[in-house]
Amino acid sequence: MASEKKEIVVLGAGVIGLTTALKIQETGRYKVSILAEVLPTDPKTIKYASQWAGAHHVSFAKVDDPRHALDKETFAEMWELSKSEAEGCFMQLEQAEYFTNQRESPSPLEHMPEFRSLSPNEIPVEAVSGEAFNTITIDVPSYLNYLLARFLSKGGRVLRGSVQHIAQIAESGVHAFLPASERQSDFTKVGFVRPAPPAAIVVCVGLGARYLGGVEDADVYPIRGQTVLVQAPWIKHGKTLSDLDAMMWTYMIPRRTGLVILGGTLEPDDWNATPRAETTRSILERALKLSPELVPPHLRSAGADAAPTVEDILPFVVEEGCGFRPGRKGGLRLEAGNVKVPLTDKRIPVVYNYGHAGSGYIASFGSARVALELLETALGSKH
Ligand SMILES: Cc1cc2nc3c(=O)[nH]c(=O)nc-3n(C[C@H](O)[C@H](O)[C@H](O)COP(=O)(O)OP(=O)(O)OC[C@H]3O[C@@H](n4cnc5c(N)ncnc54)[C@H](O)[C@@H]3O)c2cc1C
Repeated sequence: MASEKKEIVVLGAGVIGLTTALKIQETGRYKVSILAEVLPTDPKTIKYASQWAGAHHVSFAKVDDPRHALDKETFAEMWELSKSEAEGCFMQLEQAEYFTNQRESPSPLEHMPEFRSLSPNEIPVEAVSGEAFNTITIDVPSYLNYLLARFLSKGGRVLRGSVQHIAQIAESGVHAFLPASERQSDFTKVGFVRPAPPAAIVVCVGLGARYLGGVEDADVYPIRGQTVLVQAPWIKHGKTLSDLDAMMWTYMIPRRTGLVILGGTLEPDDWNATPRAETTRSILERALKLSPELVPPHLRSAGADAAPTVEDILPFVVEEGCGFRPGRKGGLRLEAGNVKVPLTDKRIPVVYNYGHAGSGYIASFGSARVALELLETALGSKH
């Protein structure tokens, strides 16, 4: 008889929870459940960063930062997906990155396809240096649902629930979150068996790590990002102007659907969950200065030779957005620990994978692979 698969509970269904659950499931050695308050099929909410992301794969990690390897590994996996089964979630395109300072050499992005440094006549006046290469943008609503469908199609279980404390899961797994028809009715049943603890818990709750009992990580904080979504299917290339001294980014990220995300802002510890009107206007002004092609010449009110104005682009605005990147002082938490199983002397492993700030998509597959390794080492089940 085949041995029973070990039960693993993944908390969180953002890009990190979904990717981590998939990596664990695809070993074939575990029965994996995802338990989360917000799921990819829900309307957008401030409690779920993954729905608000641009998103593109442009790593910020320097070559000597351990995250660089995670980002590179993730890019390789996403690039393959963008050519095969998940093609519809991605757009391959040429990306230009402009910097208001001199870019370090060698560039951390030299591994990207078709990488080249830009000459002075190819960069905007505000910039000092620039690079171009090929990358992907991600249509995040489709991609999150693709990950969810891939997990479900391989027998994964997804449950909705708000977890108060990880001890709750350590004691009886996802039992309390099952539909009523599947729950045991305790003492009224002869031969009642207490719900078993899972073999391990994997914590991928993003900003929720600040509040989740048993984790309560005070280093976790929001980095607010405001965006504007416009309809501009003629845009087939991406651009970013980074002014890191001023913590100011201006970017244009087209998606395969014809929608283009314009941004952005980087506002640490700013808890305002609704878009600010003056910021929306500033994003549109900056984006039009960087990318006048957002409004084709024949649609410019002051004439084809004039620069486009904010009023010219307003008819194409679909949505103002605002999300909280899950920041963490000291960076990403990717490590193993354990938690006591209540009413017993046992402890079970807990793997933490959260705090990805503005790089959750960029590092997703790499950090999920490390989380899997930590899990298997903690369980002593590495093959
Ligand atoms: C404007 C903007 C642009 C961005 N652009 C990019 C980009 O271009 N590239 C990139 O890589 N990243 C980008 N990001 C960052 C990216 O969105 C995040 O790094 C990523 O979404 C984090 O994913 P996560 O799964 O850790 O968290 P989330 O997506 O927030 O998911 C957290 C999950 O945990 C669940 N949860 C939390 N607490 C509990 C609890 N107590 N009980 C049960 N469930 C719980 C939630 O319900 C949810 O399912 C951007 C972010 C913003 C805001």
